[in-house]
Amino acid sequence: MRLLLLGGTAEARALAARLVDEGVDVTTSLAGRVARPRLPVGKVRIGGFGGVAGLRAALAAYDAVVDATHPFAVGMTANAAAACTDLPLLRLERPAWEPAPQWRYVDTHEQAAGLAAALGARPFLTVGRQELARFVPALAERSALARVVDRPEVPLPAPWRLVTSRGPYRLEGELDLMGRHGADVLVTKDSGGTYTWPKMAAAARLGVPVVVVRRPQGPPGVPAVHDVDAAVAWVRGLP
Ligand code: NAP
Repeated sequence: MRLLLLGGTAEARALAARLVDEGVDVTTSLAGRVARPRLPVGKVRIGGFGGVAGLRAALAAYDAVVDATHPFAVGMTANAAAACTDLPLLRLERPAWEPAPQWRYVDTHEQAAGLAAALGARPFLTVGRQELARFVPALAERSALARVVDRPEVPLPAPWRLVTSRGPYRLEGELDLMGRHGADVLVTKDSGGTYTWPKMAAAARLGVPVVVVRRPQGPPGVPAVHDVDAAVAWVRGLP
């Protein structure tokens, strides 16, 4: 069994570890976005495939695919669905967070930026480096704190402060960071999972409103599971 595992998430690393243990020939694919990625066990390839056509060509070397990319990695997920016409494909997607009454959901990052501007003067932006540019028009004059893994390539507005770090985070650290910044609104994607949950707990503790960007819809017709155990069971059940 040669499995292509589309990764870049904690779940993908956990799945790779479980399957390699069981003797599956796992190759994890990473996009190459972060400078020093956490590497999973098993084989690793890094970089885009070159769209659906490139992915389809690469699939000749595999028997099945698990798409365990981040819930917001819509491009890769759509390409996998389009390319895997002759190969079993499973989507492993961690559950979304259970909504809390004080959270405000929006559909786009632009809407999140507008709502954050309406709610506060010192937003804490935790949406990832690639999305930051979409927050600049609405928040250029605000004292935003932007947290990212790697520094963005685009210049940020002068009043913004940047912190580079990588989860998992702890509640004490999040309370400290948000308290020191005086954050009065938190902006996040609905990433789900535990790695970045402490900021949500900190916001609740501090009474800070939260703007949550809703998850994009995945492609229809692709079977999906929500935890690593279920993904392992799916792989075991392959012919
Ligand atoms: P994306 O917008 O869905 O994908 C854009 C393109 O990047 C894809 O068409 C593909 O290029 C390449 N790509 C993405 N994931 C890849 C992978 N695992 N292996 C090989 N190529 C990949 O992707 P994204 O949102 O930038 O996410 C990139 C990576 O970061 C993913 O592995 C994802 O799991 C991880 N990540 C994303 C987020 C997020 O918020 N989006 C958060 C945490 C981690 P080609 O068309 O050339 O194949």
